[in-house]
Amino acid sequence: MDHSEIVFGILGNAFHCPVMGEFEYLENALITVDTAGRIQAVLRPEEYQSSGIVQALEGQGRLQRLTASQYLIPGLIDLHNHAPQWPQMGKGLDLPLYDWLSNYTFPLEAKYQDLEFARQVYGDLVQSTLSSGTTSAVYFSSLHLEPSLVLAETCLDKGQRAFVGKVCMDDPDQCPDYYRQSAQQSLYETETFNHAVAGMKGNQGLVSSVVTPRFIPSCTEGLLKELGQFATANDCYVQTHCSESDWARDYSQQKYGETDISVYERTGLLGRKTLLAHSIFLTNQDILIIKDRGAGIAHCPLSNMCFANAAMTTRELLDQGVHCGLGSDVAASVTPSMLRSCFDAVTHSRVREEGTSTHRPAGERGESNTRISLVESFWMATAGGGQSLDQNIGLFKAGFGFDAVVVDAAVPDCDLTIWPGMDSPADILEKIISTTSRHNVTRVWVQGRQVIDKKTAG
Ligand SMILES: [Zn+2]
Repeated sequence: MDHSEIVFGILGNAFHCPVMGEFEYLENALITVDTAGRIQAVLRPEEYQSSGIVQALEGQGRLQRLTASQYLIPGLIDLHNHAPQWPQMGKGLDLPLYDWLSNYTFPLEAKYQDLEFARQVYGDLVQSTLSSGTTSAVYFSSLHLEPSLVLAETCLDKGQRAFVGKVCMDDPDQCPDYYRQSAQQSLYETETFNHAVAGMKGNQGLVSSVVTPRFIPSCTEGLLKELGQFATANDCYVQTHCSESDWARDYSQQKYGETDISVYERTGLLGRKTLLAHSIFLTNQDILIIKDRGAGIAHCPLSNMCFANAAMTTRELLDQGVHCGLGSDVAASVTPSMLRSCFDAVTHSRVREEGTSTHRPAGERGESNTRISLVESFWMATAGGGQSLDQNIGLFKAGFGFDAVVVDAAVPDCDLTIWPGMDSPADILEKIISTTSRHNVTRVWVQGRQVIDKKTAG
């Protein structure tokens, strides 16, 4: 075997989900990483034991051995995160959406023209998301060009795979005067941002720009069409909100007599590289169109519990093979942790299945057979996110980017406890999903580059 292409190898126990709804436990696996930061091979003991590769890498100081308490999982993928709302996290989640946006979000997002403030917040955000195991993040930035570039540069500098969008809002009926641009300015800044991100020094595809109409109520039809044309002509990523609430769904019906999906399709904004946050109120026809175009959905469970007016149809979307991952939707969340989003996706689906009203008989309370499993939610935060982004990430597979997280159950004072002899691999993975906190995340790599290394005692 030729070892010259290998930069380093990791030997230990790993979990991933090559098939939706199933997990694979790779016990004592050797994962080797090449010069481009891709996985060169994933070898089981019977495949590497007689080759001498472990001894060769160890002799050259290029082998990292995990301890028995450490588990490698694929890097976590956050498909929906509002970067400028980071200082808002934890505030006002008992308010209706309109009040939350008007009282907190728009005034805060407008502050980012102060670039020093932008640097300070975005530095802290990207460090915190990486430290929580988020190796890929899809960010809404704010309305303006320069602070959006600060976010893109911060992600590149800290080594996070990122998809960053300058937000577009031009409709005077729905956007505050102090936080709105003309359609012409929105398009110009989108084009400039796209060009600048592609040209950032050292950016070899780690950070991508995303065409970002905020949602249908914030944009005129003219701007949606211009952005759709630009995205199509330049093969850009697109992100937006889709049918998040009764109000958003009704707005499109009243203004256009159409669903959000119909408007996005008609304006050229719906394609393989489109990410649709939420997508609560989808018609059957909407789902067929999303599937046909290959667009991805970012399910944001905690946010939906606060603002969506209804539960997400996650079960049906997964069963129909629609591309679907998870988003934190910071700051409509209280943590950037994608493992927390996994757990919230499960509880969200369980509440949907059981229903809520004690005034109804049990059989009429919920929607039967709509729960999802912990393993399905973990698939969504890893392989499902990679599929939604059309990127080779989220699995331990040759040719995929080495985006990985070490979860260590032996850090002191934590909730993740593994009981030898009592916990099967399935139990261990469920415990990792349900009880990992940030200080259990001790090492993180993105595209083969180690970006987090916590020297933990004990
Ligand atoms: Zn959002």
